[in-house]
Amino acid sequence: MTASKRALLASVMEEYGRVVNHFLDKFWTRKWSKNELTRENLVVPETWLTARLRKVAAREAIDMVAAARERDGVSARKPVHRGRRMCVSSTIASLKPSEQGGEFDAWLHVASVGRGIVLDLPLRYHRHYHRYANDPRARRTESYVITLDSVQLAFEMDFEPPRREGPEFGVDSGITALATLSDGTRLGTDMKASVERVKRCRHGSKGQQRARRALKQRMAEVALELVSRNPRLVVAEDLLLLSYGRKTHRRVSKNMRRSLGAWTNRNWLDRLDMACEANRVRFERVPPAYSSQRCHACGHTEKGNRAGEVFRCRACGYTDHADVNAARNLLGRFWGHEPRPAGAYGTGFQRKA
Ligand SMILES: [Zn+2]
Repeated sequence: MTASKRALLASVMEEYGRVVNHFLDKFWTRKWSKNELTRENLVVPETWLTARLRKVAAREAIDMVAAARERDGVSARKPVHRGRRMCVSSTIASLKPSEQGGEFDAWLHVASVGRGIVLDLPLRYHRHYHRYANDPRARRTESYVITLDSVQLAFEMDFEPPRREGPEFGVDSGITALATLSDGTRLGTDMKASVERVKRCRHGSKGQQRARRALKQRMAEVALELVSRNPRLVVAEDLLLLSYGRKTHRRVSKNMRRSLGAWTNRNWLDRLDMACEANRVRFERVPPAYSSQRCHACGHTEKGNRAGEVFRCRACGYTDHADVNAARNLLGRFWGHEPRPAGAYGTGFQRKA
């Protein structure tokens, strides 16, 4: 964008923010419905925004109030709009593909905002855009979130029900094999060098970015390899639960230092989630605490059960590959096959909905 266009957009958003805040004052005292946004209720003193954009602002204010109330109930504090983003629909904005060979991929045409202002915002599509634009199940909606630096587009997607046939896999993630399945299969056994390259490169350097791209690509391939076995269920560890209970957090982050690293692990599980979603595979996550120390056969949990790659239970003698035993624990944990070890998850433990 040119500097003058940017300044014009900033002035629209500033006024938009002011108007949203006016509506927040008005809507804070009781619950309002979007059906109540009549001409009289949309009057705002001293604004130059059109009735259309005032309506958009009022709808956003209603959503903000609802979100604050849902989050914090009666103790919620009145939200404030900072005038840095604007959620608009086809009444205000429309997307026009660029002509062949243009510098940009598309233009967002923004009109009917007030003072006769018309803005054409140049856009370049993100890689993520192409993923949905090329998916026959996805339809782009006419809703846009405009900020000074970006425009967010939205897609709607039909979801088919998850498949009912096929095996169930617990998945243990690690550095010597990216994925070890509960049936004993090991996938991505060539990852170690690329993971270590990412860890070794200076943080944020060009070299690290390159290494990360290569690693992401490889992780996507392994995720596809996994779902091509057509499971009906995949259960992996839930990293979101790491912050619950400091004991758990310490234990797992220590494990991760020995293995994938936080960034790699998060990316890998996101890839796996996406691959499952695209292939109608149900994807679930469970807290990973102690999954590598617990005996899958008898439940006995002890650090000494595991020696490197070998798991040998000190109570019942069950032996297995350590990662396979861990993967079986994750699957069993999802089905509730184990009693919760005392204090293992802390008191804040909650299953993600
Ligand atoms: Zn045992």
